[in-house]
Amino acid sequence: MTATLIDGKATAAALRAEMAARVAELTAKGLRPPGLAVVLVGEDPASQVYVASKARQTVEIGMRSFEHKLGAGTPEAELLALIARLNADPAVDGILVQLPLPKHIDADKVIEAIAPEKDVDGFHPVNAGRLATGGRGFVPCTPRGSLRLIKSVRQDLAGLHAVVVGRSNIVGKPMALLLLGESCTVTIAHSKTRDLPAVCRDADILVAAVGRPKLLGAEHVKPGAIVIDVGINRVTDPATGKGKLVGDVDFDAAKAVAGAITPVPGGVGPMTIACLLENTLDSYLIRSGLR
Ligand code: NAD
Repeated sequence: MTATLIDGKATAAALRAEMAARVAELTAKGLRPPGLAVVLVGEDPASQVYVASKARQTVEIGMRSFEHKLGAGTPEAELLALIARLNADPAVDGILVQLPLPKHIDADKVIEAIAPEKDVDGFHPVNAGRLATGGRGFVPCTPRGSLRLIKSVRQDLAGLHAVVVGRSNIVGKPMALLLLGESCTVTIAHSKTRDLPAVCRDADILVAAVGRPKLLGAEHVKPGAIVIDVGINRVTDPATGKGKLVGDVDFDAAKAVAGAITPVPGGVGPMTIACLLENTLDSYLIRSGLR
């Protein structure tokens, strides 16, 4: 058996096209476009790539992008003052501070300074709390995108056993809460879980968010399961000596057992930015009284 490939790249492109049409419709009526502010502190190369691609995709769908690049030595107070200005700026619907931040800055303090109604990353404790209590708030982009991919394969998830490997605040925990919201029976596995293969093998939906190249193989996958690989790991390809990206799942091994599976790259990754834009559009519609 070979699993169905879940094409995150195509799903994300379709979602962006839908949003571009909606934004064009709004601006044609003379309304202002939605705006996303992205703040980068320092010169981390991976963060620079993420920020550039967020800005490019924001503009491509007709939204405004406000980029703020600050030096690595920027004092925490200066960053907090910028966030206060963005909180008060009516043209800004979403604020994203690219993580990780330099060590001298308290990331929790910075996240908590973002107005919850502009926290399109969904990391503010108010939004995390709303997700936990089933209320209306911003859901972190990677889990939101992952759930969309799961639902592209199967709409009704009620009663299915979902296993999420990883318990971070950014991916694992919100993913588990979203699946609980879909009435799945949810297990969160992590570094201290005993007999990980047996736990995973019982999953109808298996989500890997660990950060270990090819940690999960065929022995972790129930025949027919939906496998979502969130992991992005840069490794050296022994055949070419060049760097390449692999997931937390051994794709070739798992696809022989799974019912449907996301590739890396081209799976969850593209969905993350598309869902960031979706959160920004949601924020705009709410703030403009259109929803
Ligand atoms: P993290 O380091 O914060 O959390 C990793 C989790 O994995 C921890 O909860 C830990 O308990 C668990 N873990 C570690 N070793 C384990 C093991 N041997 N067995 C079982 N569990 C183990 O990472 P994160 O921020 O949640 O990111 C996870 C992965 O997802 C990374 O590869 C990251 O690059 C990727 N990621 C991708 C996107 C995307 O857009 N696709 C977004 C965010 C993160």
